[in-house]
Amino acid sequence: MKKTISLLFVLIITLGFAACATSGISMQTADPASTVTSDINAFNPETDVDNRYANAFCQIVELDNMFLWQVECPLCYYDKVTGFGDVFCSKPECDHNNPDCGGGILGKPAISYYDGKFYMHGHWPSNENNCWMVFRIDPVSTEREVFMTIPWYEDGSMTLMRMFIHRGKIFFVNQYQSVESGNPKEKYSLLTCDFEKHDAAELKPVFEFESKSMYSSNLFFEGSKIYLFANPSIDGHYKLIVWCYDTVSEETSTIADINIDDDYFQPNGFCVTQEGEIIIGQSAVVPDQNVKAYRIVDNELEVYMEFEEAETPWWGCYVNEETVTATRVVSENPRQDAVWVRDHKGNTIYKGMLSTNYRNGDHSSHLGSITYFGASRDRILLSAEFYTEAGGTTSSVDYYFIEYDITENGLQEKTLASWKWNSK
Ligand SMILES: [Zn+2]
Repeated sequence: MKKTISLLFVLIITLGFAACATSGISMQTADPASTVTSDINAFNPETDVDNRYANAFCQIVELDNMFLWQVECPLCYYDKVTGFGDVFCSKPECDHNNPDCGGGILGKPAISYYDGKFYMHGHWPSNENNCWMVFRIDPVSTEREVFMTIPWYEDGSMTLMRMFIHRGKIFFVNQYQSVESGNPKEKYSLLTCDFEKHDAAELKPVFEFESKSMYSSNLFFEGSKIYLFANPSIDGHYKLIVWCYDTVSEETSTIADINIDDDYFQPNGFCVTQEGEIIIGQSAVVPDQNVKAYRIVDNELEVYMEFEEAETPWWGCYVNEETVTATRVVSENPRQDAVWVRDHKGNTIYKGMLSTNYRNGDHSSHLGSITYFGASRDRILLSAEFYTEAGGTTSSVDYYFIEYDITENGLQEKTLASWKWNSK
């Protein structure tokens, strides 16, 4: 039986569908029965973290027929069936710029889907209540209720950066800097407690480490196993460490602990393949560096895939379970980027330019950042932000959530959501 949850905004129900039926969304999750096999590690979309977006700088939730997306803007949705997207808010005549807006103006929250509801860990109203808040969001009404509160300490020792909900547990990345005896320290822990009880007093760490500084840390969820990949500086060396926590046995093991003596190696996320291989993408450090993907073999890094044949170097490499993608900047002004999407055997799925029709020919603003994620055999997803300056300050920022469908005739560009922030 296909599990389908059809949901329409209360506003639309109230208006009897006629007035604005196009703004309705429906939510449909993949059928867990079709994905759950005898393999306990098989992905269950109702209860498992979606690794494609787990470590993205901006927040994405993808269900079978909708997206939620947020950067520094209100929570937006895109309905894949109707092709309609807007702020995730059902309040009539809302300007989407107030604390009661369904989209929330929360600034870098973490959004999760779990068993029919959305959960958002946000900053607001932590200042007011001196605590971190987790909200449960009703997909029908877009109303949110407080699901959990976690104490916020003035010394910063509870600085929650990310939230994940996975197989009956809720997890928070607690990452903060402190100075001890004049030495700066970065402290990292992954805290967890039972999801149903969601009692902050029961939060306990499953991973914990300190470092002088750190390039990156990423998490990967596979059934009962949670992998933590980090690149801390310990005892004067940059290291690449992979830990694995088993939620059933509650044991943590070290999978790899590698000293990185190559100044040109900067990791850019990782994935664990179905064969259990750990694959790592690389970010370029110097302008003429061609990036590679690596794998860990016998506690050493081995080249997994190389990207060559370009007038300007391939600059960033991203990996997921389906693809290995490299990106490069072809032109700064106007900004033009190229991508090379390959499968794990090295076969090219798409290699070429990314169109920017979504910019409508506007070249007056400059790119702030592009976040790539979810490249698969049939599409590339990215989130981009462009800044406009006036009088030495940022006067506006344009945010875009873009999908490129990979077709026989090249890429088909589609804007899934966008938002413009103005300084006044
Ligand atoms: Zn609103």
